[in-house]
Amino acid sequence: MIYFDNAATTQPYKEVVDTFFEASLNKFYNPSASYLPSFNLFKEINGYRKQIIEYLGGDKELDNVIFTSGATESDNLAVFGTCFNKHKKYLFSVGEHPAIYNSAMELKNRGYNVEFISLQKNGQIDYDDLERKCDKDVCFVSLMSVNNETGAINNLEKIREIIDKKTENCVFHVDAVQGFCKIKINVKKCKINLLSISGHKIHGLKGVGALYISKGTRLKNINYGGGQEFNLRSGTVNYPAICALTRAIEISFKNKDENYLKVLDLKNYLTEKLKSLKSNVIVASDSNCSPYIVSLIFEGNRGETIMRYLDSKNILVGTGSACSSSKVGNRVLENMKYTQRQILGSIRISFCAKNTKDEIDKLVKELQNYFTNVNA
Ligand code: PLP
Repeated sequence: MIYFDNAATTQPYKEVVDTFFEASLNKFYNPSASYLPSFNLFKEINGYRKQIIEYLGGDKELDNVIFTSGATESDNLAVFGTCFNKHKKYLFSVGEHPAIYNSAMELKNRGYNVEFISLQKNGQIDYDDLERKCDKDVCFVSLMSVNNETGAINNLEKIREIIDKKTENCVFHVDAVQGFCKIKINVKKCKINLLSISGHKIHGLKGVGALYISKGTRLKNINYGGGQEFNLRSGTVNYPAICALTRAIEISFKNKDENYLKVLDLKNYLTEKLKSLKSNVIVASDSNCSPYIVSLIFEGNRGETIMRYLDSKNILVGTGSACSSSKVGNRVLENMKYTQRQILGSIRISFCAKNTKDEIDKLVKELQNYFTNVNA
């Protein structure tokens, strides 16, 4: 099986699964209990918070990290945990993942003043539109680091500069799910207040993630229970999953630069190889983007059918976002001004460092077979 859908989820590292297994079997205590073995787990978890803050370039003595069930929960907490004032303005981009986009829509339904920033043709947010919409009433901005469908990278430093020029005390949230451990992210440099990460996109496990919280950021809980995680996320603390998440981050972070170069080489190889195809292909976002995600448009074809054909040849690729692939249309590509005919022909290839050029050769060969059959 050839797997090119790493933006949807990744195969966990063996060390991650071993860590989870070991912790589940031997350290199953509830970290909130008051006996010593539990207290030791609690201390260990606090060490992991600091480790993650350091990887993000934050201040491990002052900032905080809370563990969640994944980035959807982290994103929800960032949005609904910071909405304090209906007279203020909340900004999002139209290109956000449904975890943010649908939260923003819900915020709007609840009567908050919500506005959306559009995208440029290259998939990045439109910085001029941000500048236009950002004014002194804006108290919250949520923009992703890397788009999960196109790989477009937003310039977080530039975004923070625009925000600071226009308003004061604005909370800046970043959904860093597709960027963390893959490209450089520094919370201090970009003055990021809140940042979401997810385990299963970096060879960790599904069902665990985290939310980074910079010192002084006002956040309220959105669920109710035993008050775990500084009363921001009630529920029994998932120690084994947290150990596994931290292990995945350690390995991914250690290999970040080397993996980036490997994947960049793969992406360049793919785009070069695609030139030999009979069908015209557009790379949806090809400037300043993450090599991990490549959105391809085969105009006049159906991405869904291409995906199914490749599936029958044991090659797995994505169409749109895995979490929303049941929906018709594509909000991201639409906003990048691609036509419906082009959007219908899109597929998403997403790499990890374990992919090979040989796998790309097989993919391109099968694409070639597909177009030859279609046109026969
Ligand atoms: N944000 C982005 C950019 C994503 O790509 C995803 C998953 O596809 C999520 C949020 C949701 O993450 P999780 O599956 O951990 O809830």
